[in-house]
Amino acid sequence: MKDLDWSNLGFGYRKTDYNVRCYYRDGKWGEIEVCSSEYVNLHMAATCLHYGQEAFEGLKAFRCPDGKVRVFRMDENAARLQSTCRGIMMPEVSTELFEEMVAKVVRLNQEYIPTYESGASLYIRPLLIGTSAQVGVHPATEYVFIIFVTPVGPYFKGGFSTNPYVIVREYDRSAPLGTGKYKVGGNYAASMQANHLAHEKGYACEFYLDAKEKKYMDECGAANFFGIKNNTYVTPKSTSILPSITNKSLMQLAEDFGLKVERRPIPEEELETFEEAGACGTAAVISPISYIDDLDTGKRYTFSKDGKPGPISHKLYTHLRNIQYGIEPDTHGWTKVIID
Ligand SMILES: *Cc1c(COP(=O)(O)O)cnc(C)c1O
Repeated sequence: MKDLDWSNLGFGYRKTDYNVRCYYRDGKWGEIEVCSSEYVNLHMAATCLHYGQEAFEGLKAFRCPDGKVRVFRMDENAARLQSTCRGIMMPEVSTELFEEMVAKVVRLNQEYIPTYESGASLYIRPLLIGTSAQVGVHPATEYVFIIFVTPVGPYFKGGFSTNPYVIVREYDRSAPLGTGKYKVGGNYAASMQANHLAHEKGYACEFYLDAKEKKYMDECGAANFFGIKNNTYVTPKSTSILPSITNKSLMQLAEDFGLKVERRPIPEEELETFEEAGACGTAAVISPISYIDDLDTGKRYTFSKDGKPGPISHKLYTHLRNIQYGIEPDTHGWTKVIID
């Protein structure tokens, strides 16, 4: 293993030895290529540069206490990428090709998979871009699918804890019939001002309301939202949010724990009634929310008075992490051992 200080890793890019690539030409995907360059040689008129034909994914590989390396629900990431491909008219990557490339790039860079004890992990970033030249707005005829990895530090350095969020009304991340449900770079470009504003005001992250009525809770930054009340896990149903695989998993676990699960529009006022709330995604699994401020109305919705995460969030978080690390039985078949 590389002699890196895993405990000091943040969420940044760190060079590893290899990435894997696959090119789409003449209507079909080619062979998987192993590459040691971090660069892409790109035509200046490539559609990814001008018209946003760009999709990505994010998942993690974990070095587990039993010595094995596991990845979490990569078939779900493959399926979501396929949905994104259909959404912005790019050729789909089969689940088989996706999984083969993930396994390959993780094995090639196994020296960079942090130790279990460090709490760090190997972040896997699949990227699909349109590469052929096009001046008019049309889908490209050629694409490259690249997967690189980079070690990332633990999300909670000082232990599982809460953060304040803020509702931002001046910006929309995505429209009801737009690309919010696809993992495309354009949504992130649309979120940068709101994210900057939230950070400037001292919040961990910005919260979007639905773009049409500005009435319902949508997403927070690059994470889905959930609230807990009366033994029920409630999460927004909306056409403009990205279907989080973490959220999907938490809904299943909540059900396993005997909670009710509701996926439905959540009016902002309902925040008042939640006993716990959190943001969820691959990066943190759950990032519990202390309070959400609505600056326009001056309203503050508080979920944690002492700054500590609530018991159900804690239980869900611990259980999901234990499945990822092969500590608790993986009854839903969510993990795949990539290195034995
Ligand atoms: C990636 C992403 C998420 C989280 O999805 P996970 O599959 O749980 O990592 C949530 N919202 C947005 C906008 C995202 O891009």
